[in-house]
This record gives sequence, structure tokens and C-alpha cells, in this order.
Amino acid sequence: MQPYNLDKVITDTFTEISRSRENYIHGFQPQEKGSVKNVSSGIAKVIGLSGTGFEELLKFPNNLYGIAFNLDETEIGVVVLGNDEQLQSGDVVERTNRVTDIPVGNGLLGRVINPLGEPMDDKGPIAFTVRLPIERPAPPIMNREAVNVPLQTGIKVIDALIPIGRGQRELILGDRQTGKTSIAIDTICNQRDKNVLCVYCAIGQRASSVAKVIAQLTEKGAMDYTTVVVTEGNNPPGLQYITPYAATSIAEYFMEQGHDVLIVYDDLTHHARAYRELSLLLRRPPGREAFPGDIFYIHSRLLERATHLNQEHGGGSLTALPIIETEAQDISAYIPTNLISITDGQIYLSPKLFEMGMLPAVDVGKSVSRVGGKAQLQAYNKVAGNLKLAYAQFEELETFARFGTRLDENTRKTIEHGKRIRACFKQSELHPVPVPEQVTVLLALTNGLFDTIPLNKITEAENLVRDASVHLPPGLLERIQSSKPLSKSDEETILSVTKTALQSLITISENKINNNE
Ligand code: ATP
Ligand code: MG
Repeated sequence: MQPYNLDKVITDTFTEISRSRENYIHGFQPQEKGSVKNVSSGIAKVIGLSGTGFEELLKFPNNLYGIAFNLDETEIGVVVLGNDEQLQSGDVVERTNRVTDIPVGNGLLGRVINPLGEPMDDKGPIAFTVRLPIERPAPPIMNREAVNVPLQTGIKVIDALIPIGRGQRELILGDRQTGKTSIAIDTICNQRDKNVLCVYCAIGQRASSVAKVIAQLTEKGAMDYTTVVVTEGNNPPGLQYITPYAATSIAEYFMEQGHDVLIVYDDLTHHARAYRELSLLLRRPPGREAFPGDIFYIHSRLLERATHLNQEHGGGSLTALPIIETEAQDISAYIPTNLISITDGQIYLSPKLFEMGMLPAVDVGKSVSRVGGKAQLQAYNKVAGNLKLAYAQFEELETFARFGTRLDENTRKTIEHGKRIRACFKQSELHPVPVPEQVTVLLALTNGLFDTIPLNKITEAENLVRDASVHLPPGLLERIQSSKPLSKSDEETILSVTKTALQSLITISENKINNNE
């Protein structure tokens, strides 16, 4: 055993100390601290943080955060992201030197979170890959590609007449309780096995509505590929305001991984109102309908982030379905017109059609898809044009027919045909129709095969045709779902299968007509 050398130990220690002393860098790391001047209705006025940047995250006591929204000379207007009742004047405020961000990653699929990334379900902490800022610049034009792949909603009237493409922004608008959410949820449910990830963003909604949506998504197995970002009506306006931006960052992460993503904003009316509330509390000058001047900008910079990236950037896409609630069917109000001009088309839901039981209550005349037509499957080409025209003629003539006017044969035929189109477009919620079944039904419809069948038997006829379509030759089923057009012989095969399926119904109705005569 070596003798213990005290001298050496002392020398070593001294050398160590002197080395660390040499390496020590002098200097202060000052930290700015301010204090709350006053707080009310989700807005805190903070003094003493002169270096704060715009939209910087500030930290209050009790793990409460806020966004610096108004930078005045003497004070900062901070939007509190949480319960402001815990705050009082004099509380210490610290800078964080970062903007609001949100955890993103595949671990978010199947989860329900709030816009701060905190779990709202009982599945434990969120597993995430990175944190992304909630506000990010939209991809530049050079990184984008034209919309050329369809996003099937499974809703016949939409897929045939108002087709949506991956990377498109399609507005869903209508009065309250007209089935807006149902269309979005049906679309999410229809993405099962289609390689599309979904984000449902509920802004300022009733807790019961959100619970219903989550229950529907879970029941249909759609939560496996969906993230739900929620703020409820009783949450502070600041939290409601950041919800869609946070949800978009989550969706963008998936898009940048090369996935096709669908995001639903339900709804932006609540978002606009939350922003109006914040702006008025911050004493920004009110404009039309008391909304602040930059209300167009907050929505356009949000929706501009939806796009189809080109192959060099992964080829992912982000399709946005923003929802807007109109009042008394006024689509020319401020927020609806803004959104109509930002998006690539709109699906208008009419309360009149809803009352008539014509569900989904899509008003085809007032709805349009500006880019989806180019992405639509070619198989629809044979039917879409005819259907739109026939339906428009029918809607025009229908009003006259109500007065009991005597109609000539052609008009009567147009009306009878139109009634059958309308009957075929009826579809209950959460029952998406696969593409081959849609094409078969619509082809039968445009070729007048349903015209001899009584109106009350149309649903039965449609079901027969849908069942028959399953037995079409596999090659043909593939061609229908491919991006190639159908040949004449394909069309004939479909029609002959349909005719055979409808034989029983047609014979019954013809017999009835003969007997009546
Ligand atoms: P809100 O304005 O409250 O958000 P909304 O416009 O989102 O309402 P939904 O909640 O989607 O409307 O639908 C309103 C009601 O209509 C619901 O009870 C829903 O079940 C019913 N509904 C919607 N679409 C259909 C459909 N295709 N078939 C049958 N019922 C439907
Ligand atoms: Mg709704």
C-alpha cells in the first residue's frame, strides 16, 4: 500500500482550483423581471419588461403564461393563457425569450389536448418528438404543387359535384344546426385506410358537442389517426385565439413528414369573436362589426399554411376544412365573405333543405369547389356534368311545379328526374359511401335507370345498386378508383349489372303503372 501523500493531494487541489479560476468567465446574466400592473378579463397589463418582443411568451407565477400582444412605450398588454383569477397586481413577470410552442409528433395521434399541449384525456403524458412554434410562415410558392389528388369525403353530393382535393381549403358554412360538424366528421371517418392523418380543432365549443364528436370518432375507429385540439366556450379568449394555430402546427409536422393531412377548424366564427374580444380589451380600434382591422389577416395567414408540397419537400399535403356559422343565412356578412375569399371554395348548408329532411343539406347552387375539379377521379367525369345541369334545371322548375301548373311532358320528366337525384343525394351521417358504389349509383341515376322507379322506392333501389357494385369485376373496381377515365365498355358493364339488380323493382313498378291504367 502506498503511503498517503498529503502534500500531493493539497498541490493537486490547488492546481484544480486555479485552473477552474482561469476558465471562469466573468459576466452577469441579467434577467428582466417586470410586474403586473392590473389584470382583468384575460388581459394583464405588465410594466418593467422593456426588452420584450412581439408575441413573446411571458411567465407569471403559478405556471401561468401569457403572450405579449400590445407593446406600448410604458406597458405591455398580455393575453393570459389560463385562469387570470390567480393573478393580482404586483405579481412578478419573467421573460422566456421564446414564442408559444406546442409539442408535435406521432404520439399525438389518438389524443385529446389543449392548445398548450396539455392532455385533456386520461391517457397520461403526451409523447412528443419536437416542439414547434404555433405561428409559422406558410410554405413558399416554390415549394408547392398543384392540387391533384382527391380527398374523398364519402358524401355523394360532395364527391360528385363539389369535389375536394388534397391540399385544398374548402369552407363549410351554414346557419346553426345545419349539419356543418357532421360533414367534417364524416370526412374524417372516411379517411380510414386512406393514409390521411386528421386533426380536429374545436374552438370555443360546448363541452357536450366536443364530447359527442370524440365519441363518434372513437366509435368509428377514427381516433387511431386523429388528434383533437380543444378549447371550450368557457376557456379564456387568449386560449381560444391560439387554438387553430397550435392545431395547424401539429398538422404541419405530419405534412412535413410526407403525410397527407386533413384539418378541421370548428369553427372560425368563435375564433374571430375571441380575437375581437381580445382586441377590444386591448383597446385596439374597432372596425366593421366591431372586429379589428387585421381580422382578415389572422384567418388568411392561418389558411395559407394549408397546401400541397412538391416531391422535393416530401410531397405531403394539408387540406383545411374551416367551418363558419352564418346568421339568418347571411353569407355576405363580414367574416363569411372574408373566409369565402380566402378559401378555394365553399359548401353551403341550407336550413330550408335541412327542414325538408334533405340531409346533408348541401345547397348545390351556392356551393363551389374552385380547384377540386382537377383532382376529381376521372370516373366521376361521366356523371358530374350531367348531374349538375339536371339538378340546376330541376331546382329552377320545382318552384313553378308547386303552384299546380299543368306541365308539359319534358318539364314533368325533368322534375321527376331531379326528384330522384335529390333522393339519391340523401345520406345519413356517419355512413360514408365508397367510391365504386358512388360511381355505380350516380351512373345509374344519370342514365335514367331510376326514373321509372317510384320515389318512395329510391332508397331500396340505391341499396340494390350498391350491393351489386361490390360484384363488379376486380379490374373494373380498380379502374374506377384510379386516375384514369372509364372506357365505354366499362360503363356498359356497370349499367348492365345495375339493370339486372334493379330488374325486380322495375317490373313491380311497371306492373303497378299498367294496373292503374
Ligand atoms: P352547430 O351550429 O350547433 O355547430 P352544426 O351545424 O355543426 O351545429 P351538426 O351538429 O353537425 O350541425 O348537426 C345538427 C344535427 O343534425 C345533429 O343532431 C345531427 O345528428 C343531425 N344531422 C346532421 N347531418 C345529418 C345527416 N346527414 N343525417 C341525419 N342527421 C344529420
Ligand atoms: Mg357544429
